[in-house]
Amino acid sequence: MDNDKFSKQREEMVEYQLKRRGIRDPLVLEAFRSVPRHRFVEPGMVGSAYSDHPLPIGEGQTISQPYMVALMTQCLELKGGEKILEIGTGSGYQAAILARIAGEVYTIERIASLSERSRAILTELGYNNVHFRVGDGTLGWPEEAPYDGIIVTAGAPRVPEPLVEQLAEGGRLVIPVGGSWSQELLVVRKMEGEIVEQEVCGCVFVPLIGEHGWKSNRRE
Ligand code: SAM
Repeated sequence: MDNDKFSKQREEMVEYQLKRRGIRDPLVLEAFRSVPRHRFVEPGMVGSAYSDHPLPIGEGQTISQPYMVALMTQCLELKGGEKILEIGTGSGYQAAILARIAGEVYTIERIASLSERSRAILTELGYNNVHFRVGDGTLGWPEEAPYDGIIVTAGAPRVPEPLVEQLAEGGRLVIPVGGSWSQELLVVRKMEGEIVEQEVCGCVFVPLIGEHGWKSNRRE
């Protein structure tokens, strides 16, 4: 997996897009060196797979910019072995990055065709610690809770309450919150029963649609 013809592009992505912008976590950098991002983009986009921006993945959705995937992963402060919930499987790339570092990854996608495609790629690449569900991720995956980390890869109007409930004590929820056109990336921590929120930076994500998210795809 490491020595495909894209390994030089991955190394440059790590050096120029991640390290130079302050991504320092060695586990995150190592995951980016090894996950073949070109396998998660549409066939016509392979040449742009390692470029510094999001790309379309069909169904009006996107694979996020490498830096944003790295920043959100770094915000989880993973040490290895954790149980993680991801909302918004999309291409499966973020799930693969998480699967390299954490113990088990539970990922929910509302669009069945995207979930099926990402499951096929991750299976082919040999990731056997990723579990898929099709449905409304704003409700979380209560049967497997609590989670050491929860990452939401779509923009929410507010922090969905079920996700806070499903976060373990000491756990971190990383989520873009704000309007439908731009959001603030937040880290929500549960510390001794208290909820502590920290703003990281501005960001732009496709809408989180569901019971505790936006009601429709129409951006207001
Ligand atoms: N993590 C993805 C990746 O690595 O490619 C990028 C995800 S894309 C920016 C956001 C995804 O969230 C879309 O695939 C969208 O369909 C999904 N989504 C939006 N609302 C959702 C919800 N309530 N539950 C699950 N997935 C949702």
